[in-house]
Amino acid sequence: MYIPFPDRYSGMHYKNCGMSGLKLPLISLGLWHNFGGVDDFYTARCMIRKAFDCGITHFDLANNYGPPPGSAELNFGKILKLDLQSYRDEIVVSTKAGYGMWDGPYGDWGSKKYLIASLHQSLKRLQLDYVDIFYHHRPDPQTPLEETMEALIQISKEGKALYVGVSNYSAEQTIQAHKILASAGVRLLIHQPKYNMFERGIEKTLLPVLEKTGIGCIVFSPLAQGLLTDKYLNSIPLNSRASKAHGFLKSTDITSEIRLKIEKLNEIAQKRHQTLSQMAIAWVLRRKEITSALIGASNPMQIEEIVKCVKYRDFSESELNDIDAILGS
Ligand code: NDP
Repeated sequence: MYIPFPDRYSGMHYKNCGMSGLKLPLISLGLWHNFGGVDDFYTARCMIRKAFDCGITHFDLANNYGPPPGSAELNFGKILKLDLQSYRDEIVVSTKAGYGMWDGPYGDWGSKKYLIASLHQSLKRLQLDYVDIFYHHRPDPQTPLEETMEALIQISKEGKALYVGVSNYSAEQTIQAHKILASAGVRLLIHQPKYNMFERGIEKTLLPVLEKTGIGCIVFSPLAQGLLTDKYLNSIPLNSRASKAHGFLKSTDITSEIRLKIEKLNEIAQKRHQTLSQMAIAWVLRRKEITSALIGASNPMQIEEIVKCVKYRDFSESELNDIDAILGS
């Protein structure tokens, strides 16, 4: 029987999500990769246990995570039942809909028909009565934003999600979504954009909007899918994401230019007595607008390593300048 580490909350920090009362851990765990039906269930279960033992209270899913699509939710539902059933109120579970999930015109994008049906399916797979956060996964150019938001409003009012969020929305789309939801008395709790040292597009556009509107921000792929670790310094290790045929990170993404940057960043991390992955997470968390860094992992040791960065998150001005110089920004 799994008994969570009693001191699990002492090493983690929890931050209010925007201007809401919901606190999220500085580090959250996403189940996009390595939790699907094709993956090893035992390892997946160990990672969830390890995360919870480290004070990670937030787990992020989507209808289509797997492969096959839906299987990450199925596996997480099983793990919750097996290990964490009596800890449900200590956990924030999110899921999303917005990418292709089932055949035909109602299984993709952002219609009310799709979003409501998808959440019902997710709740069944997760074996839950409600999720804490439900996101629209990406903007839909063919559905009026009012309709997509109407779905989020209904979901929120029916209590099938306690909070709602958007992901991959532009700054302008976020302002509009926030307005529509607010007019119905529903808070846009959170935005989930991509952000890491190599992809800083949100700094000038989205982050100021989130701060002004009081929307929280959880950033995905803060390690650039593993590039911002020391694993690709010399080669492409077997079983790494870049080595897998179905992966979103391609071995061709690891160019000599990227490798040079990783090497230089690694030198700065070493001077800080941190691993590169710890420094990369601390770096995204330096921005006050950011509530949580949403990491992925393929084994429990990676989670244990990353969480240690919570204790050492400060950067000197010269370190930040050196990092900017390496990144070319
Ligand atoms: P990361 O950038 O954190 O990459 C995770 C990968 O980095 C791991 O799978 C592992 O790669 C490697 N890694 C992690 N920790 C370490 C470590 N300590 N040492 C060495 N390597 C390490 O995030 P993801 O790209 O996985 O995204 C995280 C989450 O964000 C997803 O699970 C999902 O919840 C969410 N997401 C949301 C999207 C959206 O559109 N809203 C899109 C994409 C993700 P390896 O497998 O090679 O060991």
